[in-house]
Amino acid sequence: MMAAMENVIIIGSGPAGLTAGIYTARAGLSPLVIEGMNALGQLVQTREVENFPGFANPVSGLDLMTSMRRQAENAGVRFAMDEISAVDFSGSVLKLSGMTGDYSSKTVIIATGAEAKWTGIEGESTYRNRGISACATCDGAFHKGKSVAVIGGGDTALSDALHLSRICERVAIIHRRDKFRGTRALVERVLATPNIDVKWNTTVVSFDGDGGRLNAITLSDASRLEISGAFIAVGHAPKTAFLKGALELDENGYIRVENTHTSRPGVFAAGDCADPNYKQAVSAAGTGAEAALEAQRYLESAK
Ligand code: NAP
Repeated sequence: MMAAMENVIIIGSGPAGLTAGIYTARAGLSPLVIEGMNALGQLVQTREVENFPGFANPVSGLDLMTSMRRQAENAGVRFAMDEISAVDFSGSVLKLSGMTGDYSSKTVIIATGAEAKWTGIEGESTYRNRGISACATCDGAFHKGKSVAVIGGGDTALSDALHLSRICERVAIIHRRDKFRGTRALVERVLATPNIDVKWNTTVVSFDGDGGRLNAITLSDASRLEISGAFIAVGHAPKTAFLKGALELDENGYIRVENTHTSRPGVFAAGDCADPNYKQAVSAAGTGAEAALEAQRYLESAK
């Protein structure tokens, strides 16, 4: 059956996608937001958000995103649960194929965000989900009163370490350089937390275990650290694999945009999937609003 022709389809329901939804709904375009396995985006993994304007006190990422979704629903956004696996942007009707349906639209806003990267270090794939995780908020509670390691030196590693320090006995941050990349406020808090140790200029050589579960890591200084969990926080990669060949991407897979316009007319991108630089919730929401306004202009000029 032919899919109904939509005005705007938004792929992704993080801050960029939901903001694009709120704006296009208020413009009377009746947008359809397609949300997949990672509905509400990466922010739901952040326990305390302190830098999203409008909240005098820290707000949990889940509360913030749940409220943003309700705001989108109230504005008239429609939602579909699906994972888009292929696109055809070659004609004037933009086509999307998902696991549960096919979609046609006059405009598309891509807001698929980014996902955590893995290190590829020996033992990582063996012990993934058996002690190794990329989400401290999701899995930290499994290590109550135990020792864990966080690998990385950016904001994710620092906020993961702070979160884990409240649950675990000891937290070791393994960082390959002698300086953190993360925000000063987080760096200062980490360095002042008594049960966080930082191992500078150190890398993980292998993740070790008994075959069933992780129980230690071997470090580049040949020491061995006994831990019950390791949290990987070595950055994020854009979720754009399904767009290969359909849109111009940069060498790291980010969608190339100019004022949210992609290389295809009628296709816009917002948030982390098109942002190699800032990757903040507030900038994702900002570009979501811009993409919505650009899509609206495009539809008006096409009339
Ligand atoms: P990131 O800033 O890219 O930091 C990644 C860290 O992992 C860096 O310290 C990097 O080391 C290290 N690293 C990369 N590859 C590695 C490898 N193979 N082995 C060992 N270490 C490796 O990524 P992120 O921390 O996920 O943050 C991404 C963006 O989200 C940033 O813009 C950040 O500000 C934002 N964010 C903000 C918050 C917040 O405001 N609360 C929370 C989370 C994320 P080098 O330093 O040597 O490159």
